[in-house]
Amino acid sequence: MKLIYPATIERARQRFWLHVDRSGGPNACWIWTGSRGYYGYGRVNVSGSSYLAHRMAYALTKGDPGCFWVLHDCPEGDNPSCVNPQHLWLGTAEDNSQDMAQKRRHGAHTHPERFARGERAGSAKLTETEVANIRQELARGTRGRLLAQRFGVSESVISCIKLRQTWCRSSRRRQTCRDERS
Ligand SMILES: [Zn+2]
Repeated sequence: MKLIYPATIERARQRFWLHVDRSGGPNACWIWTGSRGYYGYGRVNVSGSSYLAHRMAYALTKGDPGCFWVLHDCPEGDNPSCVNPQHLWLGTAEDNSQDMAQKRRHGAHTHPERFARGERAGSAKLTETEVANIRQELARGTRGRLLAQRFGVSESVISCIKLRQTWCRSSRRRQTCRDERS
């Protein structure tokens, strides 16, 4: 999982939305019109490096996803080239495989109407406020397992939040996060 440095986000900000088709309106999928890579995911080049377009869209609008994955939840069925921040949520690699397996099982791609938005056994979405609350609780010494139960997420999600809290401000942050995800 490639991390995005703040300077890169700033450079991308000026040009990114020129390559996005937002003609469907604020709630529709916003389609990346630039180049695409494997499985139809948009790719954006910034200063010689290539990033996933939906990940960059998240970074530009909601903040650096850090060591989390940016996952799709499009109302009409997941569209890998969609960069509408409203259709993107943060999860772990584990959430990604659970999400994919669950959607396949429920036929989300062929019958999106059968897959209710937000219902996601074992991998609930966390809002940024919830992430902030978890950080506060961790700082107070609340156990990860307890928080995982309370917020309906796996312990690995809590560990990731914890890692960011303890490591991400230090100079070793990026290496640590990369190790964690690879
Ligand atoms: Zn979408």
